[in-house]
Amino acid sequence: APTYIRAIAPYQAGKPISEVAREYGLDEAQIVKLASNENPLGMSPQAQQAMQAAMHDLGRYPDANGFALKALISQQTAVPESWITLGNGSNDILELAARAVLSPGRAAVYAQHAFAVYPLATQATGAECIEVPALTSGTNRFGHDLPAMLRTIKNNPHTHLVFIANPNNPTGTFIPAAELAAFLAAVPPTVIVVLDEAYTEYLPPELRFDTVAWVRQYPNLIVSRTLSKAYGLAGLRIGYALAQPEITDLLNRVRQPFNVNALAQAAALAALQDQAFLAQSYALNQAGLQAVGAGLAALGLPYIRSYANFILFDVDSLAAGAANAGAQVYQALLKRGIIVRPVANYGLPQWLRVSIGLPEENSRFLAALAEIAQGAG
Ligand code: PMP
Repeated sequence: APTYIRAIAPYQAGKPISEVAREYGLDEAQIVKLASNENPLGMSPQAQQAMQAAMHDLGRYPDANGFALKALISQQTAVPESWITLGNGSNDILELAARAVLSPGRAAVYAQHAFAVYPLATQATGAECIEVPALTSGTNRFGHDLPAMLRTIKNNPHTHLVFIANPNNPTGTFIPAAELAAFLAAVPPTVIVVLDEAYTEYLPPELRFDTVAWVRQYPNLIVSRTLSKAYGLAGLRIGYALAQPEITDLLNRVRQPFNVNALAQAAALAALQDQAFLAQSYALNQAGLQAVGAGLAALGLPYIRSYANFILFDVDSLAAGAANAGAQVYQALLKRGIIVRPVANYGLPQWLRVSIGLPEENSRFLAALAEIAQGAG
C-alpha cells in the first residue's frame, strides 16, 4: 500500500452493546449505549412499515438513481433532482467529495476537533490534511475558527476542499449564519466547500437558516445531510448531498452504482414524510440536553453548550487531572454498563462525549457519574 494509506489511523466506532456485556459480565438489557449519537426513539414506525413492505423485492437491485427518493428530497428542499446525490450514509457523501476533487499534491482544510471522517476521506486520496486550530476560548470554545481557516486556504493555494461541520461533532458547537455567509463569500471559487449538516434537525428553529439558498448562490458548495441522526435510520445508512449540477455530476462519477440499498430507500421515503416523529425526536432531545446539562453542572463538570444530540464534558476533576482522564472515566462508566465515547483521538483526552438518550438512560448515566465523582472509581 502507498505510505499515505499506511498512515491512516482507523475510525474508532462506539463499542457494541454485545461486546460490553460479554467483557463486563453484564446483562445486555441493562446496558445503556450513549456513544454514537443515535436517535433513542429508534426509527419512525412508518419507516419500519415501509421497509417491511419492501422486503419482498430484495432479489432485485435497488433503484440505482433513487428516483422516488430524489423526487421527494427535491420537493422538500426545492432544488431540482439533478442537484441531489444519494449516499450510503453521509460518510459516503464526504468520501465522494474527497475522491472527486482531491489527489496527491492537493490539500483539504478542516478544523481541529472536527468530525474524524474528514482526515480519513482526505488521506485515502493521498492529499494533504491541513488542520486549523479551533477557538480556545469564548462562547464558541472548541468551535471552528473560520477567519483562520480562510487565511489557511489562501496561504495554501493547493487547497481544493474544505470541510465545515455545523453543528460539529464531537464538540456540539455551532457557527451562526452571518459568520458562515462571510466565509462562503470569501472562499476562492476553485475550492469546494462541504457544509456537513448531520445534526441540523436538532437546531432550535430560531437558529436555523436556509443553506439551500447558498447552494443556489455558490457553485462550489456541497451541503451534506443524513438520515442517521434525527430521522433514526443510522443502521440503514443513508445520506444525501445538495449541490449545483456540475459538482453533482462529479460526485456521481465516483459513486458506486447501487450505493443506497432498497430497504434504505424505502425507509427514507417514509421517514422524510413523518414530520411528527421528527418533531418528537427534536423535543425529546431538547429536554435531554437540558437534563444532562443540569446534571453535569450539579456534579461540577464543565461542558460545552451543545446544538446537537450529544454533550462534550470535561472529566479532568474526576481523575485528579490525569492526562488520560477521559480513558479512566470511560472505563469506570463501562463497568457500570454505560457506554459513552472517548475523544482522545480528537485531541481531547480529558473529555468525554455522551449522546442524549431516553430520560431514564440520561438519569442512569448521571447516576453512574455521581458514583464515580464520590470516589467509587
Ligand atoms: N457528519 C458528522 C458531523 C457526524 O457526526 C456523522 C456521524 N457520526 C456523520 C457525518 C456521518 O453519519 P452517517 O454516515 O451515518 O450519515
